[in-house]
Amino acid sequence: GEYTHRISMDGHDELAQLAEEFNQLTGRLQVTEEERRRFVSDASHELKTPLASIRLLTDSILQDASIDRDTAREFVADIGEAADRLIHISQELLELNRLDEGRDMAQEPVDWTEQVEKIGRMLAPLAEEDRITLETDLGEDCIVRCNQEDASQILRNLMENAIKYNVTGGEVLVTTRRQGARVLLSVADTGVGIPEADMPRIFERFYRVDKARSRAAGGTGLGLSIVRDAVRHHGGTITVQARQPAGVVFTVILPAWREEESGG
Ligand code: ADP
Repeated sequence: GEYTHRISMDGHDELAQLAEEFNQLTGRLQVTEEERRRFVSDASHELKTPLASIRLLTDSILQDASIDRDTAREFVADIGEAADRLIHISQELLELNRLDEGRDMAQEPVDWTEQVEKIGRMLAPLAEEDRITLETDLGEDCIVRCNQEDASQILRNLMENAIKYNVTGGEVLVTTRRQGARVLLSVADTGVGIPEADMPRIFERFYRVDKARSRAAGGTGLGLSIVRDAVRHHGGTITVQARQPAGVVFTVILPAWREEESGG
């Protein structure tokens, strides 16, 4: 529905203050409602594209009686790719939903060193395709209060982007540092970079600077919004900055796991 109600109250008494709070609340609800509408519309659009190609390719095979075997196989392979894309989109939508609902959110100590090594091994083949070097500079005692699943999501998405949006022969550098009660993680690359004007928007759902490039790399525009939601959920922050001479660096700060927490 529409949230257009406003209460008008003069003076500085409690009622006026209550009215002000009410107005602020309805303002926030309206933003959320608009966001929800846009999200549903964007999501439908993302799902429609691969579904439309599945429909089209199926028709081509069925309607052309003289279609040769190789062409038919090629079309079926394309159908398979469209299906993979739908699976990927629905996995990411489910992940966003999980974060929204705050389910499975038990916090536990997560060692960034182990995570960086694990995800590094996982992404090594992708990096090799474009001869991208993965470098690490891991500090002592970088244990965060997070959970394994979310920490993996955060790191995998950032490292995968640093590889996907890099140049052939480029570099990715992952750094971790303990800073008092907090732990800093940064993922820096030597890639195509992000225009200053787009930086505030890249964490929005489905937002992509270069749609064609993102699609070609199997992207959905949901990765960074999943990262942001996960980081926020665990009381952290994420920022992005341009690097000289090229590329960007994403910095995630999460609370450090305190020893006394493990005792319960
Ligand atoms: P996608 O699935 O498209 O990669 P993300 O939400 O992970 O979606 O990222 C949103 C957009 O931000 C990307 O499409 C890309 O334009 C930009 N982006 C993200 N990471 C980087 C990076 N390391 N270098 C350059 N551009 C990036």
